[in-house]
Amino acid sequence: MRPVIIAANWKMNSTPAAAGPLAREIASRTREPTVVRVVCPPFVCLAAVRDAVAGEGIQIGAQDVHQEPAGAFTGWTSAAMLAGLATWVIVGHSERRRDAHETDAVIGRKVARALEGGLRPILCVGEQLADREAGRALQVVADQVRGALGGLDPERLVEGRLVVAYEPVWAIGTGRNAVGSDAAEMAEAIRRIVADLGWTGPEAAALPVLYGGSVTSANIGEFLAEPTIDGALVGGASLKPDEMAGIVGRAAMTARARVDAGAAVDRRELKIR
Ligand code: PEP
Repeated sequence: MRPVIIAANWKMNSTPAAAGPLAREIASRTREPTVVRVVCPPFVCLAAVRDAVAGEGIQIGAQDVHQEPAGAFTGWTSAAMLAGLATWVIVGHSERRRDAHETDAVIGRKVARALEGGLRPILCVGEQLADREAGRALQVVADQVRGALGGLDPERLVEGRLVVAYEPVWAIGTGRNAVGSDAAEMAEAIRRIVADLGWTGPEAAALPVLYGGSVTSANIGEFLAEPTIDGALVGGASLKPDEMAGIVGRAAMTARARVDAGAAVDRRELKIR
């Protein structure tokens, strides 16, 4: 049974002074033990958020990590520097692919560094609008997943509990979200791709895949109604406590249904034996 994960990407918003109170409010409005909640503030806000939500069951993520372990890389942040501050990291976000010209090869190295540093990676993939309109979306996403993960040891990725976020670029920050069934199809395609990369069937089936792109409390239900989608990576709406309360509340319904379904499977198995 896959977990239901809601990850908040604050992007370049908030400040060290404002981040703690915001995170605390979000934490108090989203107390749902069945949902994995992750908040990814800017680097300079990580310590404030960590301290503000201590004991709340919220996990902290960074928004990026450098592909080298250390060295002459002015202004960047290594995996080792994140120890004690974050346990997750977003890798390959489309805004970094666009603005920092990150390639799939570089993103793959970032995933490797994250795993070495004990950080759980959320690998972001997604097509441009022109790709979807030309019927190339699946191919583009497959190339991104293979390009980033192809050189990495599948066992290490499974052990490091990789998460993939399918984020169509045209849906990020635009208010235009994907159709739930298209995102669901992509989630299954991503599991087939990792299976081609050497993951076993059960490992691929257990890979959590999130949807990201203009998620709000009003549309999260469309994605969580799809059994192949395991939650969301939320940008703009994640800065609004009301929105986060609605999103995590809806996610808890799915998480509880999955627990019940899992229990039903266990009961059936017991009966067969
Ligand atoms: C994101 O930052 O990953 C994202 C999906 O942003 P938004 O929800 O604002 O589209």
